[in-house]
This record gives sequence, structure tokens and C-alpha cells, in this order.
Amino acid sequence: MDMRDFCEIVRNSVSTIEVGKALGLNVDMHNRCSCPFHNGRDRNMRLYDGNRGFYCFVCHKSGDCISLVKGVTECSYADAARWISETFRLGLEDELEQRRQKPSIWQRSGRARIRKAVYGRRRHEAEHHEQAAEGNRQSADG
Ligand SMILES: [Zn+2]
Repeated sequence: MDMRDFCEIVRNSVSTIEVGKALGLNVDMHNRCSCPFHNGRDRNMRLYDGNRGFYCFVCHKSGDCISLVKGVTECSYADAARWISETFRLGLEDELEQRRQKPSIWQRSGRARIRKAVYGRRRHEAEHHEQAAEGNRQSADG
């Protein structure tokens, strides 16, 4: 399996909504979240089910679930696809890595880098979410 086929299968195997959640984006019941690309605070980004990707109504950034991971974690498109495959246990990585003799850049550092970025995003969203919840409480009280 080459990288192109790999990405194609990854794209068609997971929902962008689930990928957004796995990334730590604060996806609401309408599948909207604040846009990580223009760092918006309002929920201007919409994630779509299946392989229909995402779209931001403010900065007009759009793409598939792999480019969402790529953008949020600032990794390569290929590493983003690998991360999705591992996270959702698609079981495709072995077929992809089989032809290699040496450990790939992905195995040496790519995986750790994305994990760190996702961890950072989760913390960022958690802090933002707390502030938003606090704001809602105040407006409910008033
Ligand atoms: Zn945006």
C-alpha cells in the first residue's frame, strides 16, 4: 500500500467529527467548534460527518480530516494520516511501514510530536471551555 492509498482509506474510514474530538477540539452537539486555524473564540467551524471534512465560516479554511490534524498539530499530511490510523486503530500502518528497513521519521519522532501537540490543544480547549462555562453561568445568574 502506498501513502496515497493509505490516506484515501484513512479519509473514508473515520468521521471528521470524531477526528476533531480526538484532537481535543471542543465539538458541540451541532458539530461546531472554535476554529483552530484563525484561533477564533466563537464556534465558527463546522465539522461534517463521514469524509465530508470541515469548513470555517470566518476564515474559509476547509479540508478533510487529515488536513484538520495536519493544521492543528502542524505536522505533515502523511504523519497526520498515520496518527488517525493509530488513534482509531484502523490497522493500516503495518502494511504501510512493511517495505521500510529502518525506523521511519514517523516512528522516531513524528508520533511523539503529534501527541504533544494534541495534548497542548486539549489543555488549551479545557481552559477556554472553563472560561466559556463561567461566562454562561454569569449570564444565567444575571
Ligand atoms: Zn477559521
